[in-house]
Amino acid sequence: MVSFNHETVLGVQHWTNTLFSFTTTRNPAFRFENGQFAMIGVKCNSTPLVRAYSMVSPNYTEQLEWLSIKVPDGPLTSRLQSVKVGDTILVSKKPFGTLVIDNLSPGRRLYLLSTGTGLAPFMSIIGDPITYERFGSVVLVHSCRYVAELAYAKRIKEELPNHEFLGELIKQKLIYFPTVTREPFENTGRITDIVACGELFEKIAMPSLDPSVDRVMLCGNPNFIVDMRTILEAFSFREGSSNNPAEYLVEKAFAER
Ligand SMILES: Cc1cc2nc3c(=O)[nH]c(=O)nc-3n(C[C@H](O)[C@H](O)[C@H](O)COP(=O)(O)OP(=O)(O)OC[C@H]3O[C@@H](n4cnc5c(N)ncnc54)[C@H](O)[C@@H]3O)c2cc1C
Repeated sequence: MVSFNHETVLGVQHWTNTLFSFTTTRNPAFRFENGQFAMIGVKCNSTPLVRAYSMVSPNYTEQLEWLSIKVPDGPLTSRLQSVKVGDTILVSKKPFGTLVIDNLSPGRRLYLLSTGTGLAPFMSIIGDPITYERFGSVVLVHSCRYVAELAYAKRIKEELPNHEFLGELIKQKLIYFPTVTREPFENTGRITDIVACGELFEKIAMPSLDPSVDRVMLCGNPNFIVDMRTILEAFSFREGSSNNPAEYLVEKAFAER
């Protein structure tokens, strides 16, 4: 059975009418690997109502940060979207998940490909100095329908490159590639399309996918995962696990109803 810490909400940011993020206190005994998730939620008629949520904040920070969808009739998020400073959030005492760089074999370039809230685990991974020790370049691709849904774009573009300790590494190694599918923007198109036609690699001046040097993590909607897996397997990428690190890893950001 999952047991929970009681954390306090410290801040809330609403990005759009379907997306928000919030920070909470962190029990110092809660340890995790960047890329993992926890079960979080609220008490509902004295029973925990919880769902899987990836940690946005890297594992060395004092607070925890979460990025959330607002599903209008969703059992948890219809309640969670009205959290305010001082409210209590349940956070599982243990983390879960295998979307961690230790489950990838050594490589030269790391591609973090996400749609929607699938960005969340990659925020902790790009905030981890070990990511930059292991890889020469880190390419974070985030696809949304609208520009306003590109959560954390300003933090990634403006704050992380000036980070006290990681700034220099991030300036040298992190390439951020946001793309939207439903309005004009500097980059448009689905990740699967821009990978398959090569537009992504042309724009970031990298060679096409190569399993001998590239490593890929996927997190996003179930259809994106299915289509992206097919593309990666056509390039002879193999899925990694904790027993068998390999060339790509997958986490679904949510299950289809
Ligand atoms: C490993 C894992 C990590 C996750 N991490 C996050 C996270 O960091 N942030 C987050 O918002 N959600 C995340 N989710 C989804 C989350 O667990 C819940 O599904 C979500 O909070 C909605 O909860 P709900 O009870 O309101 O609705 P649910 O009954 O859980 O979901 C209802 C329906 O809403 C849609 N939906 C659910 N979640 C999403 C989503 N994130 N984006 C788009 N559509 C969705 C799906 O169609 C789903 O069937 C994660 C799921 C998994 C399996």
